Amino acid sequence: SYEDAMHRRKTNLTPALLTYYKKPVMVYQGHMQWLWDVHGQRYLDLFAGIVTVSVGHCHPKVKEAAKEQLDLLWHTTNVYMHPPIHEYAEKLTSYLPGDLKVCYFTNSGSEANDLALLMARLHTGSFDVISFRNAYHGASPYTMGLTAHSTWTYNVASGFGHHHTMNPDVYRGLWGGAHCRDSPVQTDRSCSCAAGECMAKDMYLEQLHEVLRYSTGKRVAGFWAEAIQGVGGAIQYPKGFLKEAFAMIRERGGICIADEVQTGFGRLGSHFWGFQTHDVMPDMVVMAKGIGNGYPLAAVVTTPEIAQSMTQALHLNTFGGNPVACAVGSAVLDVMEEDSTQQNSADVGTYFLLELARLRDEFSIVGDVRGKGLMIGLELVKDKGTKEPLPGPDVISIWEDIKDMGVLIGKGGFYGNNSADVGTYFLLELARLRDEFSIVGDVRGKGL
Ligand code: PMP
Repeated sequence: SYEDAMHRRKTNLTPALLTYYKKPVMVYQGHMQWLWDVHGQRYLDLFAGIVTVSVGHCHPKVKEAAKEQLDLLWHTTNVYMHPPIHEYAEKLTSYLPGDLKVCYFTNSGSEANDLALLMARLHTGSFDVISFRNAYHGASPYTMGLTAHSTWTYNVASGFGHHHTMNPDVYRGLWGGAHCRDSPVQTDRSCSCAAGECMAKDMYLEQLHEVLRYSTGKRVAGFWAEAIQGVGGAIQYPKGFLKEAFAMIRERGGICIADEVQTGFGRLGSHFWGFQTHDVMPDMVVMAKGIGNGYPLAAVVTTPEIAQSMTQALHLNTFGGNPVACAVGSAVLDVMEEDSTQQNSADVGTYFLLELARLRDEFSIVGDVRGKGLMIGLELVKDKGTKEPLPGPDVISIWEDIKDMGVLIGKGGFYGNNSADVGTYFLLELARLRDEFSIVGDVRGKGL
């Protein structure tokens, strides 16, 4: 039963796990965009795992490739050679521009960012690294320092030499905002600003300059950027910002890392990689999630020159580049071609964005609709003028209702109204019992 399952989860799994929904969904089966729970209830999965499934749950062709490889060989380590890793590395890098030709395979995005950090430091001989406030780059002790949001970090010894610059949020960032308020939803640019050049861009660049000046002295090892902040809440940057930021980092000897964990593999529609939507060329690309359509696979791809830095010492990873993972990754790329998933992201995404934009015009609580391709965010506010976030209980109850209608969506952002308030939500829901039932004398408490 549901109660038994909850009991098991609480007894045998870490309490750090976040469990979505008041009554969590016990997922049993998946096929393409659909999921079924153990009771046979079907859901349209718009969250795709956590922005992961890229060609469809249990896609028949990907499944077939995995099965074929399982029959042949499902494990060997990197100290041996095996055909799938070579074939896949060649195929994957054919999707990347320029000199981005050398792959290092890992099992998760966190591991891949760990490795990128190590390589940035080894290659440049510098120590300090910079990422955006509100960014998410992983949960390992190393990457926790890159991830800049208190929800995801702990007071542990991580993050030495990590610095965070203001995320250049065009909707409600410190300097974004006022002039963006009434801008039309844009589908063909990297920010939602109506004025061709976002006025906030220079302010954010000045902030980056300031971080470079006060924290890193003259030199910097690396700079991390997602093309659109995912966990941070579908945050888009001013047009042209990344290009100038990359130049600023390179002037100080640093390398630029594109975290394509959420934005890669055609999800943004117009381009295969998110960094291409900003017209920048990174020195290293970190990928996970969509790369394996949900199968554990991740990678760092960089230039031969930077890859050389890893020859200073051995760096092993037992499961990275596992034959089945490589066969899956390869089939995912084939399916992306056959099913035109990137084009689908562009077509369906644009349609979605424009339809959702109508909600913004109609409903006072829809403050912003933004994104690109099939990476879309909708920001709920109490007041469109002040942009005061819609209180947590209201957000949560809308999100619960959407689930009850058979649609799964994610939530992100850092204004505290998307998850931290489950306790408040409960309290208010329970308070309704007090109003309804004569035997409920009082409902009280705080948080959970
Ligand atoms: N980078 C980004 C942009 C992510 O969204 C995530 C995961 N949410 C990661 C890195 C970390 O990936 P993983 O959970 O596979 O370690």
